[in-house]
Amino acid sequence: MRHLKAMVLHKPDLVENNPLVYEDVETPFPSRGDVLIRVISCGVCHSNLHMIEGDWVRYGVPAKLPIIPGHEIIGTVEEVGEGVEGIGKGELVGLQPLYDTCGHCEYCLTGRENLCPYKQITGETVDGGYAEYVVGKAAHVYRIPGGIDPETSSPLFCPGVTAYGAVKKADLSPGKTAYVLGVGGVGHVVIQMAKLYGARVVAVSTSREHQELALRLGADEVLDPGRDYSRVQPKVADSVIVFAPSQAAVNASLMMAKPGGTVVLGVRGDLLDYSFPDEVTVRGTAIGTRQDMLEVLKLASQGKIRIEATKFPLSQANDVLGKLKHGEISGRAVLLP
Ligand SMILES: [Zn+2]
Ligand SMILES: [Zn+2]
Repeated sequence: MRHLKAMVLHKPDLVENNPLVYEDVETPFPSRGDVLIRVISCGVCHSNLHMIEGDWVRYGVPAKLPIIPGHEIIGTVEEVGEGVEGIGKGELVGLQPLYDTCGHCEYCLTGRENLCPYKQITGETVDGGYAEYVVGKAAHVYRIPGGIDPETSSPLFCPGVTAYGAVKKADLSPGKTAYVLGVGGVGHVVIQMAKLYGARVVAVSTSREHQELALRLGADEVLDPGRDYSRVQPKVADSVIVFAPSQAAVNASLMMAKPGGTVVLGVRGDLLDYSFPDEVTVRGTAIGTRQDMLEVLKLASQGKIRIEATKFPLSQANDVLGKLKHGEISGRAVLLP
């Protein structure tokens, strides 16, 4: 039996207690319709942190234990299962959080497969990419076009597609002002995509480093919101896009939206004090469809969006998650086996 190295979660716990164990596990076998991928790079997502620390146990995540986390992956095809056509050994491919869908529910049939109630999520319901190898469904594996660096671009497969979905829902156009709350893994891509719509982009972050990154990526203005967002102005934004994982950010987003404006939430939160006479539209956003993913890859290969990534060895995943928890990662951290 072949073995591979992986960072395995046996029991959710605070990252300070090193809940991920670097160990040998059996290399999975690609069943019918599957491909076995040798991982080159896997991004470290804030949702990995939530799952690993047990924040999402009440939502049924992780769906199994032990589990290998990680859902933004680039690698090469090592083996193909029976019945796989169109993807061959040695090809450079990616995997996103949307691991599999049923293909025949109302959402799958209407171009909203990210809402499929039977979907599988990479690294949450099935093993993911904090490993040397991962198995994917060939129908949900993406060829990487030219011009994309495999070691630093794995976050296209979560922050990339997530930002794409959020910006698409934000009702942006030239002349409108978008406030982006949180300049992390997703936020730094949201800024670039909102600029593609011609909007004026204000990036909101307390971190000096994140503010500088936002300006480098094309933000027109940066704003330090102060503690608890006390420094933000009310009713200034046509659209507010929130990826800062805090209730304070969610509260601030409702306050900042102009009457008739749009708030897009990519984080959990309570909608306190929602003022109905202002007719603000509040929308949630979560990952994206296969077509969204293909469009993200196209934008990246044309050089219109890029990932700001810092590389770490896979075995350091606990430390990297600790850095992420304390806001010490600029852009996105990626793990290389
Ligand atoms: Zn993610
Ligand atoms: Zn479905």
